[in-house]
Amino acid sequence: MNDVLAGRALTKRFGQTVALAGVDMAVRPGEAVAIMGPSGSGKSTLLHCLAGIMKPDSGEVRLEGTRIDDMGERRRSALRRSRFGFVFQFGQLLPELPADENVALPLMLGGVARAEAVRRGREWFAPLGLGGMEARRPGELSGGQAQRVAIARALVTRPAVVFADEPTGALDQTTGHDTMRLLVEATKHNGASLIVVTHDPGVAGWCDRTVEVRDGVLLTAGARA
Ligand code: ADP
Repeated sequence: MNDVLAGRALTKRFGQTVALAGVDMAVRPGEAVAIMGPSGSGKSTLLHCLAGIMKPDSGEVRLEGTRIDDMGERRRSALRRSRFGFVFQFGQLLPELPADENVALPLMLGGVARAEAVRRGREWFAPLGLGGMEARRPGELSGGQAQRVAIARALVTRPAVVFADEPTGALDQTTGHDTMRLLVEATKHNGASLIVVTHDPGVAGWCDRTVEVRDGVLLTAGARA
């Protein structure tokens, strides 16, 4: 089995609400998978369980064969920092830090010295079309530029899997599609897998396959690309 990340029989309830009712989902190395479905169907819960942000009530999640859902918060947090990258709807950049330090932050949190982290962070700017933006603060960037900074930040640790939750939801359609293409290309170029929650079929079209969530179950297994 060569899945990089695999969730098996995942369930999660919030009180009476069944958010996940037994989901199997596996991702291969370098594969980009879109998760689609109506609002409230369980997409974010699935992403959060796979990413080790949330513990499922039952089932298991394995990263490269090792169970991660039963790890304590400390280990999961360290694992998220080193092996996963995240891009959210509103980039969630730190407004007081220049772009290059925002990108370098995950390296610094992982113990890389500041100067080295910033140097490595800056290497991502030109390839992502951000040359010259290194010293700008998030408030001085357009929405699309800010999301590209967030993509650089997600990739800077060279993660195994990048998770993106509606990464283009706050952008106009053209910028959103450009950003998504860049996210898929940059992730693949770095050999990472991508799991992206989106409402936009155009965005899903950049991925290798799409899975559909309805009422906490996967509707289509989604043929492997
Ligand atoms: P989606 O991402 O598809 O919009 P979610 O995974 O966010 O769906 O939510 C699935 C269901 O679980 C919804 O009914 C939602 O209201 C519920 N839910 C999600 N998170 C919580 C929470 N922290 N507390 C209570 N209910 C929640």
